[in-house]
Amino acid sequence: MRLLLLGPPGSGKGTQADRLVEILGVRHISSGDLLRAEVEAGTPCGRAVSSAMESGELVPDDVVIEMLRQPILDASAAGGYLLDGFPRTLAQAESAAAMAREEGVLADAAVFLAAEPDLLVRRLLARAEELGRADDNETTIRHRIEVYNEKTEPLRKYYAERGILLEVDGLQTVDQVTADILDGLGRGPAHA
Ligand code: ADP
Repeated sequence: MRLLLLGPPGSGKGTQADRLVEILGVRHISSGDLLRAEVEAGTPCGRAVSSAMESGELVPDDVVIEMLRQPILDASAAGGYLLDGFPRTLAQAESAAAMAREEGVLADAAVFLAAEPDLLVRRLLARAEELGRADDNETTIRHRIEVYNEKTEPLRKYYAERGILLEVDGLQTVDQVTADILDGLGRGPAHA
């Protein structure tokens, strides 16, 4: 199975991703984690993206696409992927789809975790205290949500038009969100 997991910052993508990869036996590919690893390792890519990441801007489309190409192909060959945090712009979605179509690894579903912005700010501030991520302060958080609304939210329509959108209420309990996703994918208890 090949899945895209989208939703605003703080909507619970990482939490759901960990559970879904375990249950579905696919590889977790997180664009944010891969970018943070590049920054930490001080690679040329990491040096190029660190200031954008710290201020909550998106890093350039071509950098992300280039970074993810091989992991997507490897995961597809190994049984499937769950892409978390990618695509985030229409240009990324179109270029990923072109690549995936060529390689025969198009996504089966785009899962959207829907959530209301004010609650997300609260959730993210709580996470900031726990994890101390460089981009988890209130100004940056609000900016990341704006960037999401402007650049990523339009992808909901894009995937709806492609007939692969699965929208789930991200403000339910963690278990209920997982259950709704599995159900929507035809992998819930009712389908066992
Ligand atoms: P969150 O979803 O909580 O905002 P992520 O870990 O997914 O956090 O992303 C952190 C940062 O990494 C983003 O604010 C952005 O700067 C960068 N980033 C991650 N994925 C992408 C992407 N697909 N395109 C552009 N920038 C990205």
